[in-house]
Amino acid sequence: MKPDYLIVGSGLSALVFGALMANSGKSVQILEAHEHPGGFGHTFTMAKKYTFNAQLHYVWDCGEGKTVNQVLKRLGLDRDVTFERYDPDGFDHMRMPGYALDIPSQPEELIRRLSALFPANSDRLRQFVNEVEKTGAGLQILAPPIKLTELLKHPNEVFCAVQYLNSTLQDVFDKFQLPQAAQTLLALQWPDFLLPPNQLSFYAWVLLFRGYQAGAFYPTQHFERVINSFVKVIESQGGQVLLNHEITNFIVTDKTVTGVEAMDLTTHQTHEFTGETVICNIDPKKAAKMIGEEKFSPKLRRKLNYEYSPSNFMAYCVVKDIDLRNYGFGKWNLFHTEHEDLNEAFTQMYEHHDFSNPSFAMTTPTLLTEASRDCPEDCQIVEFLTVANYDYFKQLRETNRKTYNLKKQEILDSILDVVEKHYVPNFRKHMVFHITGSPTTNERFCWCPQGNSYGSSLTPRNMGLGRLNHETSLNNFYFCNASSGYPGFAPTIWTGALLYQRLSGDVILGNN
Ligand SMILES: Cc1cc2nc3c(=O)[nH]c(=O)nc-3n(C[C@H](O)[C@H](O)[C@H](O)COP(=O)(O)OP(=O)(O)OC[C@H]3O[C@@H](n4cnc5c(N)ncnc54)[C@H](O)[C@@H]3O)c2cc1C
Repeated sequence: MKPDYLIVGSGLSALVFGALMANSGKSVQILEAHEHPGGFGHTFTMAKKYTFNAQLHYVWDCGEGKTVNQVLKRLGLDRDVTFERYDPDGFDHMRMPGYALDIPSQPEELIRRLSALFPANSDRLRQFVNEVEKTGAGLQILAPPIKLTELLKHPNEVFCAVQYLNSTLQDVFDKFQLPQAAQTLLALQWPDFLLPPNQLSFYAWVLLFRGYQAGAFYPTQHFERVINSFVKVIESQGGQVLLNHEITNFIVTDKTVTGVEAMDLTTHQTHEFTGETVICNIDPKKAAKMIGEEKFSPKLRRKLNYEYSPSNFMAYCVVKDIDLRNYGFGKWNLFHTEHEDLNEAFTQMYEHHDFSNPSFAMTTPTLLTEASRDCPEDCQIVEFLTVANYDYFKQLRETNRKTYNLKKQEILDSILDVVEKHYVPNFRKHMVFHITGSPTTNERFCWCPQGNSYGSSLTPRNMGLGRLNHETSLNNFYFCNASSGYPGFAPTIWTGALLYQRLSGDVILGNN
């Protein structure tokens, strides 16, 4: 039977949209190319005992009354899917030679810590942090669906936000003339965007920075529980999540999308699937190419003309017989740079493939929750993340697999040298398992074009007024993913919930 909603791709925004629709009595069918649901948020197990989440590390907007909580409550999942809070006194530990700053939840405490490090610049630092607060408040008012009364009530915040529409984080650092080291400490979570300050949209930075300040979280039962719970809601309402089904084409008559052709990757047979409405969770640009870009309106074609976010390198490691809590790790992330200028560090790694002075993120999921499902009790999981260039890795992989593997090992080694020098002297001796992922790994397992990490790149151009949303200019066809909403766990949950709200008229997202 033709479902009410045929959804292609099972990323977070698709699962949330599908679960909300199924829960409201609509029939839902999801087609997913991978063997696991969840897209970037899928979970995989290696050596039969170590479980890793592909890309999710820490998330925001999960506290009582916030977006994620509102959606979970509506689905009756809020008791089953719970979250552990990172240390509010320092959820991101920023480290560079000569400096250390733990980012606290309270802006006033952040100003105090920054002023202690840079006493001669304390006024500028205070002004900068206050501007971030004001911009964030303005952006919250400007987020759809916009309420006119709120706009009129807070003109200063709205004006403050609007003036930074085209600004990078670097523009705002320059405006407030912050010292270089303070800039670096504040922007050291750059792997969360895979962009350096001189390319990153100030809006994107403010949204994430304040989001984590309000509460950084990790799911009590790891990310796998979150994804599986959404799938369970869909299936328990008679819906279907068909894995190993790769969409190869869309069926379009005149300007109406009626279904897709999909190959069952286990049998290599192609079948047609139809739906009253088709929801596209796969990359919108990739979908538009399959459909034929000429079928879209000129306005849509302009919006589809985004550049992809840079790709990344990941190392998933397991250490045994060592407790990393004895080495300064805990309910926080570590961000380290050897290079004081993040713009240069990024260019060195991304453009020149030179990782001799690495800048990277280190996360320790097994220290964030007591639930031990992810590895044996005497082990802990450690993950490293930094930027990597898709074209470079693709060429390496296609021309010489040995050189490709050596490059991945070289990046890991250079990160581990830093870890052993500054944090855990014998780290390698305790490492019992590791596997590394490159931009081509992203492409193969997350089906993302050019291995992109966050969909469209988080530059001011892509974050501005021309940003894509759910509208496609075709009938019965809507986009629903990071590039047509916003990337990240909470933002994609918001994207799926907002589309549900728009198509059903059932309001679930309140002010938060
Ligand atoms: C390295 C990295 C680290 C990250 N860390 C965090 C973090 O710590 N916190 C956070 O909040 N966010 C993080 N994110 C971002 C977050 O993971 C994503 O923004 C979010 O999961 C994207 O969800 P989505 O709904 O856009 O769908 P996607 O995850 O993009 O899913 C799309 C789905 O479509 C499927 N698909 C594609 N093509 C086809 C096809 N032809 N046929 C069938 N199916 C297809 C794919 O297999 C995939 O399952 C990170 C991302 C990366 C890359």
